[in-house]
Amino acid sequence: MDWHQIFAARNDRMKASEIRELLKLLDQPDIISFAGGIPDPDLFPAQAFQDAFSQALNPDTQATALQYSVSEGYAPLRDWIVGEMARLGIPCTRDNILITSGSQQALDYLGKLMLNVGDTALVGWPTYLGALGAFNAYEPRYDRLDPETNRSAADYAKAAGKGRVKFAYMSVDFANPTGRTLDAQMRERVIDLADELDIAVIEDAAYQSLRFEGEALAPVLAREIERKGSIDACRTIYCGSFSKTLAPGLRVGWMCGAQEVIDQVVLMKQAADLHSSTINQMAIATVANAQFDSHVATIKKAYRARRDRMLSALEAHMPEGVTWTRPEGGMFIWLELPTQINAADLLAQSLKTERVAFVPGHAFFADGSGTNTMRLSFSRTDEAGIDEGIARLGRLITAAV
Ligand code: PMP
Repeated sequence: MDWHQIFAARNDRMKASEIRELLKLLDQPDIISFAGGIPDPDLFPAQAFQDAFSQALNPDTQATALQYSVSEGYAPLRDWIVGEMARLGIPCTRDNILITSGSQQALDYLGKLMLNVGDTALVGWPTYLGALGAFNAYEPRYDRLDPETNRSAADYAKAAGKGRVKFAYMSVDFANPTGRTLDAQMRERVIDLADELDIAVIEDAAYQSLRFEGEALAPVLAREIERKGSIDACRTIYCGSFSKTLAPGLRVGWMCGAQEVIDQVVLMKQAADLHSSTINQMAIATVANAQFDSHVATIKKAYRARRDRMLSALEAHMPEGVTWTRPEGGMFIWLELPTQINAADLLAQSLKTERVAFVPGHAFFADGSGTNTMRLSFSRTDEAGIDEGIARLGRLITAAV
């Protein structure tokens, strides 16, 4: 059967990348991987989760834990998030919070909510690959969100052609893939631009809690509330996640925004999966209530040491002409190589001869540019592995320049 005759046109943009194929090799034990942007499983609060699941299944709460539930999410968890949002300068109520199956689902829903075929999404150049993947299903055009230039709202609107610009999407703190943080002035400028264009802002705060140093910056949504008085008057939708702080496997994230948006997305969630796993939400609520801050402090200490080690190793082993970011948190360092070096070719060679994996940067550019860039993650490799892996990579890149 020719399934392609049957598949809807939106699937044309949903393709497995060649990188994904290469990265399948990562299961091999002798590979040092800086590729996946994932937490170190040794740092999961596993005992706390074991106790929390056991508690959820006790006779008083097991009916709640195992029964169907409301699409908005488990109320005590939404209440915990309301407290967390308040700490970040985002006063809101439970009605402004929707629990999603990871923040990835929030990105999918927001694409589905706003994008008609041919509408424009403004994204970073580069941006989070998974956001492009989520939005691609809705067949948008992409334009480069670049608040550092003085490009006018009229120019963005004109570039959208027949469609309309619908939103600006940003990974704001220690971004995936660059590790960069959008500074206060740029955050304000994005709000100005969104006001002028009359579009939404999607603030992806997946790494927000993982700041190792420097002053925490108020989220875009907090700044917009300062200007407009209440969350329900705001155009920014904040997407949070427990994946990088507690555990990604439970698939618990959230959206926080104007109630009108949340109410509409609740209908979408009802239609898509009814609700996210209640027992997982209960376990997250229990563990977050007991030890969110102390657990986050523990993992930040470990990731910070790995970041420091990777930065020193890069300093020691990279040749002239290679530059990299110095993230104040998160999981990623972004490298720019001399323009003639193709990072995808380099990966193929690296897997063959040096046995070190990373993600070639072009995948993070909506237009496939950035072929001389690469993303390194420091979250999952111990310090000795970082030294060895960067030394090998340095050797390979030195030979290539
Ligand atoms: N946003 C960013 C920037 C990410 O890096 C990730 C995970 N890699 C996600 C969202 C999605 O994470 P989750 O669905 O696990 O919350």
